[in-house]
Amino acid sequence: MIDRERLDARFMELCAIDAEPTGERLLADRLTTLLTELGFTVQEDDAGEKIGGSAGNLLARLAGSGPGEPLLFSCHMDRVAPGIGIKPRCDGEYIVSDGTTVLGADDVSGLAAVLEGLTAIRERQLPHPPIEIVFTVAEELALLGSRHFATERLTARCGFILDASGPVGEIVVQAPEQVKINAVFHGRSAHAGFAPEQGLSAIQLAATAIGRMTLLRIDAETTANIGSIHAAGPTNIVADRCELQAEARSLDPAKLQAQVAGMLDAMEGAAKEQGGWVDINLVSCYQAYRLAEEAAPVQRAARAGRRLGLPVRCKATGGGSDANIFNHRGIPTVVLSCGYEKVHTTEERISRQQLALLAEWVVAIIADGAES
Ligand SMILES: [Zn+2]
Repeated sequence: MIDRERLDARFMELCAIDAEPTGERLLADRLTTLLTELGFTVQEDDAGEKIGGSAGNLLARLAGSGPGEPLLFSCHMDRVAPGIGIKPRCDGEYIVSDGTTVLGADDVSGLAAVLEGLTAIRERQLPHPPIEIVFTVAEELALLGSRHFATERLTARCGFILDASGPVGEIVVQAPEQVKINAVFHGRSAHAGFAPEQGLSAIQLAATAIGRMTLLRIDAETTANIGSIHAAGPTNIVADRCELQAEARSLDPAKLQAQVAGMLDAMEGAAKEQGGWVDINLVSCYQAYRLAEEAAPVQRAARAGRRLGLPVRCKATGGGSDANIFNHRGIPTVVLSCGYEKVHTTEERISRQQLALLAEWVVAIIADGAES
């Protein structure tokens, strides 16, 4: 159904266009042109201005040519560092970078597959329902772009985000809620050689607190981690300030709350007992979601995947995506696995076979309604 050579070429072309988070201008312009050529009406929102970026989120609409409820497809335009000057190339069955940058398959595989799927549908004049496309900015900055997207502009209530690791055919139906914790421990400075007994080491306060925490894998649904601990100073001064960055995630909001409470107790207890104090700032990054098996996008993606003979499997993920935002705002949305591997590293790669299957899956999801 799809044209694999055209797909590979489009994928490599888009990877080579620089698009760091908040620097998506060139890629947004190129995608606007491509979507317009496919008959879409494209609008860019003001998220760029709000987040200090060079481009906003793109919302593209195509009227239906057949029966069925509107469908939403979404991917993000930005990619993680090192992601400037990507030089994609074929290495046997795989497409890889030159080893100095990521490849950008996260999330260009989604962008290219959606474009190729729509091109194939247009060429064959297949009847399709109304289609809405959202290409977001700054997803890699804790979903900053989708957070600023006005989801009430969408009419679709059945969404597909192409943005997950794993073989094409896997469907993410569940994702965690995440909380970030920033804590600053305050002690008392003193000369470490002349009068250490007059000091209170903020570093020791933090160390005591960390020692009392349960961290890393808490249970099948819950994780927690200390990302950094920082105190600057010479060895002859007792540190009066120590900053700690941590996070916790869980698929279950109650478990997340319990985990965060445990970490806060450890910090407050350790500081107070030793005569110091701690300032804690909590940021809820995104809400958890869990879609039922009967939910429209789950059913549709699974049906289309089985028709293609894909290894269809519903799964939970440990990470957030734009789907956390869409689901939280009432648009049932699954995340489709794209087949990319070693994501967020300079060894990132994708097999051309997986990329082709992803585009076929897009076609099958759209065509699903026409047949039923
Ligand atoms: Zn991604």
